[in-house]
Amino acid sequence: MELTSIEAKRLQMLYQYQILDTLPEQHFDDLTRLVAYICEAPIAAISLIDAKRQWYKSKIGFDSCQEDRGSTFCNHAILQKDVFIIPDALEDPRFATNSFVVGNAQIRFYAGAPLLTPNGLALGTLCILDHRPRHLSAEQVDALGVIAKQVMTQLELRRNIFELKKNVEKRQHTEKELLYHVCHDSLTGMPNRTLLIEHLKEALAQFRQQDQTLFAVLFLDLDRFKIVNDSLGHGIGDKLLIHAALRLKACLRSNDMLARLGGDEFVILLKDIKKLEDAIEIASRIQREISLPFKLDNFEVFTSLSIGIALSTPEYRNPEEILRDADTAMYRAKASGKAQYAVFNPEMYHSAVTLLHLENDLRRTIERQEFQLYYQPIVCLESSSLLGFEALIRWQHPTQGLLSPGEFIPVAEENGWVVPIGYWVISEACRQLGLWHQYYNNNRLTISVNLSSKQFLQPDLAHKIRVALSEHHLSPCHLKLEITETSLIADAEVVSSVIAQLRAFGIEIYMDDFGTGYSSLSYLHQLPVDAFKIDKSFVLGLSPGNENTKLVTTILTLARSFGIKAIAEGIETPQQLDVLLNLNCQYGQGYLFSQPLNREAAEMFLTTLVPHFTLTSLDSFPSQT
Ligand code: C2E
Ligand code: MG
Ligand code: MG
Repeated sequence: MELTSIEAKRLQMLYQYQILDTLPEQHFDDLTRLVAYICEAPIAAISLIDAKRQWYKSKIGFDSCQEDRGSTFCNHAILQKDVFIIPDALEDPRFATNSFVVGNAQIRFYAGAPLLTPNGLALGTLCILDHRPRHLSAEQVDALGVIAKQVMTQLELRRNIFELKKNVEKRQHTEKELLYHVCHDSLTGMPNRTLLIEHLKEALAQFRQQDQTLFAVLFLDLDRFKIVNDSLGHGIGDKLLIHAALRLKACLRSNDMLARLGGDEFVILLKDIKKLEDAIEIASRIQREISLPFKLDNFEVFTSLSIGIALSTPEYRNPEEILRDADTAMYRAKASGKAQYAVFNPEMYHSAVTLLHLENDLRRTIERQEFQLYYQPIVCLESSSLLGFEALIRWQHPTQGLLSPGEFIPVAEENGWVVPIGYWVISEACRQLGLWHQYYNNNRLTISVNLSSKQFLQPDLAHKIRVALSEHHLSPCHLKLEITETSLIADAEVVSSVIAQLRAFGIEIYMDDFGTGYSSLSYLHQLPVDAFKIDKSFVLGLSPGNENTKLVTTILTLARSFGIKAIAEGIETPQQLDVLLNLNCQYGQGYLFSQPLNREAAEMFLTTLVPHFTLTSLDSFPSQT
């Protein structure tokens, strides 16, 4: 091996012992003293040779703690395998002019045993020096070698202990980290369900011991989080969760706990409260804080929270029960319009169970034909003539009566049943329209059907629609499909290509509930749709010059610039109609014209109110079941 690479290895090894510049240690000093005693020398040292210096771990007979490496005897000694001896430095041409020899130190004699690592690298020496020329007896030379080995053993020991300590620390650190990951949510860093359950257990135990100390569980769910996530992307969604978590945490006292259960669900454990009102006050404070805008990248995102509150009672046997009740209360809060809180009461439990039954029932409902379509007229506002019907699903539930889509479509969307239900709606709407065309002898009537985003992801959607149309002798122009802004953006690529396919086939696409999503203007012009349906929340509040009117004006301008239709939803009053007419809105629907009608009522509407739909012969109309 080349000298330079040996030296590099030697230094690397030396540093592994982590001995340089450490404080004196008793067992090293003992060995130095011992060697000085045995060799009868006034000066002794344990020296370590660093890159440029010689540093002493232990020394007797002098003060300096390090020297320049180049001039030292030890620098020669480390090149030897055995003890290196200079009986008289003045007589030795290598050292005769050395500053230790001719300078104040007046050294004449040197003997150094290299400190050899197990793989034969010399870290330094154990050395003795004297002011006079002299010799060592064979025993003294032996002793010097043996004690040098002892120094090395101590160094090894020290290194092993050091390594051991490092390993233990590393393990402790890993364990701590592991424990942290097991108990914390990786996105927000907040405690997770596991840790929450532990704290709830403790809180329950404490509550049982001294039941004056109430605690409360707040179950939080961000409203419309899915919309933010789908339309602005998961990056922004994640940021919203992180910032929301920080804001929530800032609303709490230090011994309260905020945990994230996953998704947009958080739970707060309020310890040591005096009364229910304390929890309500905190819930309100949280809602106020969360309703302030979040600045995320270039977006200003607004959100709100639905909060369910459950208060500790002696009946709770385990954490899961109180968590479940807070969750149920949260659902109630959400159902009563977002940004609300609700306090749990046992009556809610029963209705939550009902919802579960509902889910089970849904499976059998299609076969039992419990679904019905209602039809709401869409009219030309100027002339009040009929443009078509919107088909709206209802569920004639055997025990709960007529259910509106809001009560079961969200459940059906979650469990995937919305797909078969949706196919049923398409085929039923086509069947009904086909019959009306035939019996009114008029094929101008159209029907629009609402589709959920899940349906757009079905590869056979276009095919099934074609089959339904041809089965009932309809053209593509008779069917309109309504899709919400959110589902358009959710899986933009797939959905857009399905839409392109349908439009190429001649089916018009309406964008439903327009204005409630987060479409950015840059994205809008690419939207492959034929009409905007202006969400009823904007129409309901219309009065000349107010905020809603400005919004509707903008949407109408947008529609006009894209050359597409605009249909106002939810027109209830003549005043709203007036404003819309003034804004040149072409189409609309709403209770002012008609509620959604069942088949019979829709036929009455066609017959009595729409002149050109008058029946050719009432008797020829078949009875339908
Ligand atoms: P949408 O498509 O926006 O339907 C309009 C909703 O507004 C209907 O509620 C309708 O009854 C209601 N509405 C109509 N005029 C007025 C009015 O003047 N004032 C007020 N306040 N409301 C009015 P509905 O029937 O409860 O349907 C709710 C939503 O359920 C629909 O909103 C649609 O998104 C969804 N939906 C309905 N049928 C289906 C379906 O077959 N499939 C799918 N996937 N979703 C459906
Ligand atoms: Mg609709
Ligand atoms: Mg709508």
